[in-house]
Amino acid sequence: MNEFQRQYIECSKRYREKEDADSVRALYALKESLEAESAPEAKRVLVDVYDLLDFKKSAYELFSALASKSDRKDLKRLGSLKEYAENWGDTFAVKCPKTPAKIKEESKREEGLPFFRYHPHPLETGVFQEVKEEISCDCCGKPTKIYYEGPFYGFHADSHFCPNCIASGEAAQKYDGEFQDPFSVDEGVSDPACLDELIHRTPGYIGWQQEHWRAHCGDFCAYLGDVGAKEMKLQGVLEEVLEDPMWDENEKQWIRESVNGGSMQCYLFRCLHCGKHMVWMDFD
Ligand SMILES: [Zn+2]
Ligand SMILES: [Zn+2]
Repeated sequence: MNEFQRQYIECSKRYREKEDADSVRALYALKESLEAESAPEAKRVLVDVYDLLDFKKSAYELFSALASKSDRKDLKRLGSLKEYAENWGDTFAVKCPKTPAKIKEESKREEGLPFFRYHPHPLETGVFQEVKEEISCDCCGKPTKIYYEGPFYGFHADSHFCPNCIASGEAAQKYDGEFQDPFSVDEGVSDPACLDELIHRTPGYIGWQQEHWRAHCGDFCAYLGDVGAKEMKLQGVLEEVLEDPMWDENEKQWIRESVNGGSMQCYLFRCLHCGKHMVWMDFD
C-alpha cells in the first residue's frame, strides 16, 4: 500500500462512518493535494476520491486516461463510471462545507442588506442576484447591484426589485402583489401581522411546484435553502426533519433518498422559536 492509498483509506472510513462536515473537509483537502501530484498512483487514488464525493464525470475522465485496456477489473470499473458520468455528471457532487473564513466573507456581502427574518440569507439561497453593473429597481428607480429573482404574484411579475423595496413593502404595495401565496402556508399562525410580513415584505423562494411555507410554534419558519439528504446529514438535521408528523413513511423514504437539484427537491426551514428544522418537498 502506498502513502496515497493509506490516506484515502483513513479519510474514506471517517466519511462513511460520520458523514459530517469535518470528514468532508478532510476528503476535499486530500482531493486538492492529489490534484497537485503527478504520479499515476496518486491519480488512481484521486479517481477514488472523485467517485466517493460523486464527481462522477471527473472520476470517469481521469480514469479513462489511467485504466489499462488489458485489465478486466479496470475495464469493468470504467464501464460503471461511464454510466454514472453520463447520468449524473458532476452535478450531484458533495459540496465542501464552508470554512469560518468563507462564512465571514458571505456575511460581509450581506452587510447593508435589510434583514428578513423569514428568509435570512437571500444571497446564499440565490433568490437575490448580485451583478457587477448596476440596474435600476423597477419600484423605486434607484440603482442597485442586488435584485430579486424569486416568485412575485402580481402586476409586473417579472420586475426587478431592490432588497429595500421588498423589506419596506413598497414593491408589494405598488404592484399589488405577493411574494408567497397566502393559501400555500402551514396552519397555526394566528397573528395576521406575521402573514403580512411573509407575503408582502419577505423574498420568496423558488420551488419546482407551488412554494409552500412551513410554520412552527405559532409563527412562520425561516427558509434556509434547497437541500437533499446529503446536505441535511452534513448539517446534522436529517433525523430531526424525519420526526415531522407532516410526512408518512413513504414520504420519509423520499426525504432520505432526496438529492439536491434532483427530481425530488427538499426545501429546508428552521423554526424561529424552538430551532427545529423542517422541510417542504416537491417533484419536478
Ligand atoms: Zn427599490
Ligand atoms: Zn418551533
